[in-house]
Amino acid sequence: MASVETIAVIGAGTMGHGIAQVAAFSGFRVLLSDVDRGSLARGVQSIEKNLAKGIQLAKLTEADRDRTLQQIHGTIKLDECAAADLIIEAAPEKLDLKQGILRQLESLSDRPFIFASNTSSLSITEIARSSKRPEAVIGMHFFNPVHIMRLVEIVVGEKTSAETVDTVAAVGRQMRKEPILVKDVPGFASSRLGVALGLEAMRMVEQGVASARDIDTAMELGYNHPMGPLKLTDLVGLDVRLNIAEYLHRELGTETFRPPELLRRMVSEGKLGKKTGEGFYDWSKEKEDLRRAQSS
Ligand code: NAD
Repeated sequence: MASVETIAVIGAGTMGHGIAQVAAFSGFRVLLSDVDRGSLARGVQSIEKNLAKGIQLAKLTEADRDRTLQQIHGTIKLDECAAADLIIEAAPEKLDLKQGILRQLESLSDRPFIFASNTSSLSITEIARSSKRPEAVIGMHFFNPVHIMRLVEIVVGEKTSAETVDTVAAVGRQMRKEPILVKDVPGFASSRLGVALGLEAMRMVEQGVASARDIDTAMELGYNHPMGPLKLTDLVGLDVRLNIAEYLHRELGTETFRPPELLRRMVSEGKLGKKTGEGFYDWSKEKEDLRRAQSS
């Protein structure tokens, strides 16, 4: 198993800043990088805000905050990242972008590093296709918000070595996550099962089996899910769910993932869930509260 002391996180957005925070809190030296100076600054601010909230809730001490922040170094220079033992890529979900970042890193340093992509849907084998060392390319799929969600899906590409798997699983455990090993198949384990449940719940609303609220209550109280599949769809965004369903339908070819008409109609009407104020639930009050908080 390779030893990991320094982790570089590429992309300081929603996922990247969270991964950097958790890695630094767990004792790794962290390089947080972004192409955009503003995004990098916002990423660091989000980490500071999360840590301040942790102190407010008495989950963290001021010493934890200081220790964590000291471990994080922000940079807009990719070449600094090539010196890390593990590089976790959290750039936008585009295959050619992720392949390009990997190629560029490999051209910047001969030093072997593990490249873990946080992709939520792309094939790890495809990302590794242009790599000089595909055995060191793997998926490390974290969940949002990273500092709260305990799962990390370790996605094993066709050429990923056992040593790479063992190393990132150990890093995941040190980050206090529960790693699961998944083959590199569309939807991995989490999205495939989660999206299937959500789409079936929508078909049940379409068929008038029960209301959205009652279907969610069935899962919350009958199966102990912390949140029903339709409320979760509202939080993720109906447009995001539709894209994933279309992708899984195309790739896996099963009717399970054919997007229901109701989903298509709601997306075309702009009912995208919490972010637009309406989805399977009415979120207009939450949207107004958020607007007020942002303008004050
Ligand atoms: P985001 O848009 O919030 O952040 C992406 C960041 O990458 C931006 O700050 C952008 O400036 C930066 N970036 C763009 N090109 C770059 C480059 N060449 N080098 C370095 N930085 C670059 O995106 P996100 O939601 O954090 O998603 C990142 C990845 O994580 C995607 O692959 C996504 O599918 C995956 N993911 C997202 C979620 C989620 O809930 N948002 C959950 C799991 C996985």
